[in-house]
Amino acid sequence: MNYKSDFPIFKNYSDLVYLDSSATSQKPQVVIDAVSTFYAKNNANIHRGMYDLSQAATDMYENTRKKVADFIGAKDASEVIFTSGATEALNLVAFGWAKKHLQKGDIIVISEMEHHANILPWQQLRKEMGIELAYLPITKDFRLDFKKSVDLKSDRIKLLSLSHASNVLGTINPLEEIIPFFKKINAEIKICIDAAQSIPHMPIDVVSLQCDFFTFSSHKMLGPSGVGVLYTKKEVLQEMEPFIFGGGMVRKVTKEDALWAPVPDKFEGGTPAIEGVIGLGVAIEYLQEVGFGKVQKHEKELITYTLKKFAQQQKVTLFGPKNNEERLGIFSFAIDKVHPHDTAEILNRFHIAVRTGHHCAQPLMDVLGIPGTARASIYLYNTKEDIDRLFNGIEEVKKVFNR
Ligand code: PMP
Repeated sequence: MNYKSDFPIFKNYSDLVYLDSSATSQKPQVVIDAVSTFYAKNNANIHRGMYDLSQAATDMYENTRKKVADFIGAKDASEVIFTSGATEALNLVAFGWAKKHLQKGDIIVISEMEHHANILPWQQLRKEMGIELAYLPITKDFRLDFKKSVDLKSDRIKLLSLSHASNVLGTINPLEEIIPFFKKINAEIKICIDAAQSIPHMPIDVVSLQCDFFTFSSHKMLGPSGVGVLYTKKEVLQEMEPFIFGGGMVRKVTKEDALWAPVPDKFEGGTPAIEGVIGLGVAIEYLQEVGFGKVQKHEKELITYTLKKFAQQQKVTLFGPKNNEERLGIFSFAIDKVHPHDTAEILNRFHIAVRTGHHCAQPLMDVLGIPGTARASIYLYNTKEDIDRLFNGIEEVKKVFNR
């Protein structure tokens, strides 16, 4: 199966080996067309105009909300809040829900493999309110040791906020085990899932997951950037405070006070990325047309192929699960005594795009005892030839550094 032809970037750069999809995915032609067609044929602000163009733009925007709700199995479209990205969605959970409902001494559990987006809002709450932060550790084989280290008997654990999959290790956390485990500790616990890395690659149903908050970004799942989603249960949404104040999120404003608009508008102050939301809807349609079954089969084959190649390598360390169970095609690696920036720079000479650095997961780098890694991450458009080119590139790096 080769999906490359759906993505014009590969026609424009025929030699490109794009292995940075966990930073952002490439976009299929249909998504690019949806954004430019919106500007050419439908452009107007939403929710405000009495004229046809604005009504049509509003319908397109709101229809996408329904599409997203169906895509993640939410019961009602109003449970889907559009944000600027997963980062803003997580901040909305922290400052719209946790700040109001948690108090000094309450514990928020996260993990050592979190992205900064799922660490810093909670650290900020710790500074502002004195809540406590506990980190679930990782095992030597880069899995989450979720039964360890936290004071598990504590009914002070009020929130578990966890990435579904690590953007560094590729590990998929077994939420179907972890969530019931924490609900046994405290039946009232709220569960927040950062699905930024997982949702591009697998079907997810938020109701059967039993999570209260669920966040992701459009740009990692073939959609435009500047758009993200927070899913929250309706009853939780009603109890949340808005986080962005301004036009569009109020019903009535006087000189003294304001009455918030009903959900979801209450959480979407200001003009949103309308064309981006519409593009996300088309990205979802594209993914549904291909089908996650095919995406997963293709990626699983590539992951097995890549893991085999890593296993054959001397002087290359892979930071992530070595088997193809519960993992994504995200491969963080280091070549012995070679700085990851040098690795990426040499790979770039061969038009191979990988990410380097701490990947916005510095606490994880501290746990691993390294400053950073080079990271190759795949998506449906990658091929075995791409992986061969990566490993040829790694050989070139080794040659340059006599490894
Ligand atoms: N969580 C994880 C696991 C991520 O990988 C990222 C993006 N790298 C984010 C959150 C934040 O996403 P965004 O930058 O799109 O807001």
